[in-house]
Amino acid sequence: MCIGTSVVTMGGMPVPLLADPVVARPVLARLPVYRPGRRASGPGTGALASNESHFGPLPAVLDAVLAEAAHVNRYPDAAATDLRAAIAARTGTVPEQVSVGTGSVAVLAQVLAAYCDPGDEVVYAWRSFEAYPILVDLAGATAVEVPLTVDARHDLSAMAAAVTARTKVMFVCTPNNPTGTQLTHAELAELLTHVPSHVLVVVDEAYLEFATGPSRVDTVALLDAHPNLCTLRTFSKAYGLAGLRVGYALAAPPVAEALRRVAIPFGVSAPAQAAARASLAATSELTERVDAVVRERARMLRAARDLGWELPDSQANFLWLPTPTGLHERLVGEFDAADLLVRPFAGEGVRVTVADPATNDRVLAVLRRIADAPEPAS
Ligand SMILES: *Cc1c(COP(=O)(O)O)cnc(C)c1O
Repeated sequence: MCIGTSVVTMGGMPVPLLADPVVARPVLARLPVYRPGRRASGPGTGALASNESHFGPLPAVLDAVLAEAAHVNRYPDAAATDLRAAIAARTGTVPEQVSVGTGSVAVLAQVLAAYCDPGDEVVYAWRSFEAYPILVDLAGATAVEVPLTVDARHDLSAMAAAVTARTKVMFVCTPNNPTGTQLTHAELAELLTHVPSHVLVVVDEAYLEFATGPSRVDTVALLDAHPNLCTLRTFSKAYGLAGLRVGYALAAPPVAEALRRVAIPFGVSAPAQAAARASLAATSELTERVDAVVRERARMLRAARDLGWELPDSQANFLWLPTPTGLHERLVGEFDAADLLVRPFAGEGVRVTVADPATNDRVLAVLRRIADAPEPAS
């Protein structure tokens, strides 16, 4: 803004001439308006819209949070030393390879803050995680969206071909939100041979723990050979800590160092750090919970397909119900009527979190109703 148009100088002191309003950056007008999602309003409401864990915190995790709550007059450990050490020990890396943030969404923002200047390009598949276009736009970078294949998977050769000299970052989401499809290890390894070394390949593994398909990606095994590789993980989904906000990146030390440099200071609270550590120490209980979700996912997939629904083989804790024209509004309406909160993507499909068996049965009942009467009775 040109100051000269609105300010006169009186004895060296600027005086506002007109009451210019403060003006937010134009990018804000392009961001989706936050619609307060309907919260689960009662015990009968199925909260299936955000891929949260339906299990409450483990007792050991709750204890860790409560113990730290007594000290919240103090700042947390800004370096998250113990948590980074625990993550490194668990993943077979070293703490210098770890950067933590308030959810892996915050770590995604670290990636963009560290690597993208305005006009730099970020390549990712679409449809994928809704946060990607928002964060890229906010960073002033340019999104390059590469359509999924017809079977709702990443089109890796098209993504590699979309890289230019301006490309700084590529996001790869596996299993992909919202379609649930996953890459194989061989596919990721091959992609890395085609992407130039100046591009940081960020593998978003928010649903890693739920992936049971053959040859699932082992990103850590590729880190040493690929200094331009970074993986993002979260405690929000399988670990059931969505409300505490902890996620992390694993990468080569210089990349992780760059991410830590741009991180919001003291972002991850002490109760959150403690909860994440306690969760890493409770692997067997958490594995049982993940196994229960995976079993339910298989049961739902089978049942839905038996009803005639065509849906991809989800490797995450949700199902993707593609909705051909005409079906979308009907399906969304039926879920609404059944008091099930799900995530609709207009004209494309509906994402439904896998929860406890009783709630999942209510989802299947909706799918059955539509299969039994494809046209709404009028
Ligand atoms: C849920 C999710 C995340 C992480 O969310 P946080 O709660 O910020 O850790 C990241 N990526 C994808 C694809 C997700 O679905």
